[in-house]
Amino acid sequence: MNMEPWPPSTFASARALGPHGLATAPALSVVVPCYNEEESLAHLVHRVTAACTACVGDDFELVLVNDGSRDRTWPIMTALAQRHPHLTLVNLAGNYGHQLALSAGLQVCRGDAVLVMDADLQDPPELLPDFLERLAEGHDVVYGQRVTRAGETVFKRATASLFYRTMQRMVDVPIPRDTGDFRIMTRRVVDHLNAMPERYRFIRGMVSLIGFSQVALPYEREARFAGQSKYPLRKMLAFAFDAITSFSTVPLRLTTYLGFIAGALGVVTLGWVFACYLLGRTLAGWTSLAGIVLIIGSLQLVMLGIFGEYLGRMYMESKRRPLFIIDEVRAATPAIVHTAMAMPVVDSPSNGSLAPERAA
Ligand code: UDP
Ligand code: MG
Repeated sequence: MNMEPWPPSTFASARALGPHGLATAPALSVVVPCYNEEESLAHLVHRVTAACTACVGDDFELVLVNDGSRDRTWPIMTALAQRHPHLTLVNLAGNYGHQLALSAGLQVCRGDAVLVMDADLQDPPELLPDFLERLAEGHDVVYGQRVTRAGETVFKRATASLFYRTMQRMVDVPIPRDTGDFRIMTRRVVDHLNAMPERYRFIRGMVSLIGFSQVALPYEREARFAGQSKYPLRKMLAFAFDAITSFSTVPLRLTTYLGFIAGALGVVTLGWVFACYLLGRTLAGWTSLAGIVLIIGSLQLVMLGIFGEYLGRMYMESKRRPLFIIDEVRAATPAIVHTAMAMPVVDSPSNGSLAPERAA
């Protein structure tokens, strides 16, 4: 088995040097996954750059990850990079989805503190001073917590609320309500996150699992700046499924409970049948029997399906395929650092050191 340490040495040295060829890491990285965001990009870069310059001067990088967009996102990014020396661009080889695109950005970024946000400006970059202030108080993670969600449909709000409720009941790690991936993290948290090799990544849960001191920063969520949400119902359901299955085995335990319930129902039914027999009534039986068989049968299928979900995920994880493939990383100066590089998934490095004890 491949025992190369994580991150792979080629990549680690690239990060130490950085795409700018500088030996020192910037104080702050802002990481933004982008999928078909051509309308927002210019505005995004403008607002993020302004917010960062006001806080840390020149000492920052803005990492834009193009997640296989099919519109003009990549050409617009490269054009913007000509004018903005702080831009680092990551072009993924295909569309890997929000969480993996974000993971790619987190691998590439080098900042001592890392702010994660969406490209659609629903999360205002102007909160940066507040984030940095809380970080300076000694916390390792400051996560944005939505007080309002402007411009989102009642349906989206209702499903989001249901999702957080379900998660809270099923999952062992605390996952605060109404938080997204909008957060700032210290370098050590990002390093621990990068060292987690799992494929089904529910990043806010993984961050919560890492521990250290994590606090909320309440904010008003704005409406999308432009374009459509990239999370249709299908993707939202898949995301919720990934989140629950990668953090909880409660659904598997449900099988046992349902088995007990079905068994108890069977015993009650038998008792009832016996009583009917004693009372001398003949059994009309048929329909009820067919009904019970159908219900139990469908229960078994549902449970088999849940088993299948976990088994399928184990199968996919066991392949150890790269989480994402990077086509290119480039800085504004045309120094292209990597071409066609794959991120290998390696043996989970000694888990002992990667799972810091959480404060009680
Ligand atoms: N995104 C991505 N890959 C995808 C889907 C989305 O990188 O396959 C990005 C998208 O560009 C945005 C962020 O993930 O920056 C969140 O997506 P979106 O705003 O559509 O989600 P919502 O806010 O509606 O939940
Ligand atoms: Mg959005």
